Amino acid sequence: MWQPFWLLATSCWPLANKSAKSQKPTANSQKDFSPPRRINYQKGLITVLKIDVMAVGAHPDDVEVGTGGLLATFVKQGLKVGVVDLTAGEMASNGTAEERHEEARRAAEVLGLTWRNCLGIPDRGIAAEKKYLLQLVEVIRQSRPRLILCPYGEDRHPDHVNASRLVQEAHFDAGLAKVDCRLPPFRAEQIWYYFLARAAEPTFIVDVSDCYRTKRLAMTAHASQFGKDLNRIETFLNAGPGNMLSVIESRDRYFGSLIGKMYGEGFITPAPLAIHNPLGLLGVKE
Ligand SMILES: [Zn+2]
Repeated sequence: MWQPFWLLATSCWPLANKSAKSQKPTANSQKDFSPPRRINYQKGLITVLKIDVMAVGAHPDDVEVGTGGLLATFVKQGLKVGVVDLTAGEMASNGTAEERHEEARRAAEVLGLTWRNCLGIPDRGIAAEKKYLLQLVEVIRQSRPRLILCPYGEDRHPDHVNASRLVQEAHFDAGLAKVDCRLPPFRAEQIWYYFLARAAEPTFIVDVSDCYRTKRLAMTAHASQFGKDLNRIETFLNAGPGNMLSVIESRDRYFGSLIGKMYGEGFITPAPLAIHNPLGLLGVKE
């Protein structure tokens, strides 16, 4: 049974306002960081959680790995960024849903997100089914982002593949007037795909060098997945050939090298990008 977005409060984690005294310093807290605001989830109240950028992941650590540097860069530039985790990641070899929930909340604070929600789709159960499409369409129409980021559609993990398909379809359906949703149609201007376990030739690479420390901190917030702990089951993530965090950093370092920068994140777009200021590509400011 499909539930309105605001009834999913048990699986959502609005970033509660904290007093300055209780709030731990984060990578963004010294500058360019607006304290997260509380989100109202009252039943029956249409809450427009307006943001500029929405990043969607299959699991609670996906957006940090694939696009954490870009999200931190957007926040630093003053944009409002929201994250939707499709599942709570309860099928992971390590970490309970509750642990991962707390890790995702901490990572959201590090990145300076405006909000972060979990749709509560069963882990390993992501599919472009109508009930999930309507949930995501509802979120898109509420928050009206200009840009949606989602996993690249070729990946070793079927959830990443299915998440990519689900987001692409929800992005399209959100703009259809006759979709069964009480909110007015809205289609984000752009959708970009970020890389997880697999990468391909990117359409473009973003220089994320200035925010790389923030990305690292956000990833390490997911200690149940990447941490070295004797009590954890050895996995591809924590005991593969090289620490997974260093593998991700190596890829970002490689992408950075392709554009002459320290760190870069690569993205693929389904449509050509318009360049409004060609001189900007040459480092010439308007
Ligand atoms: Zn994942």
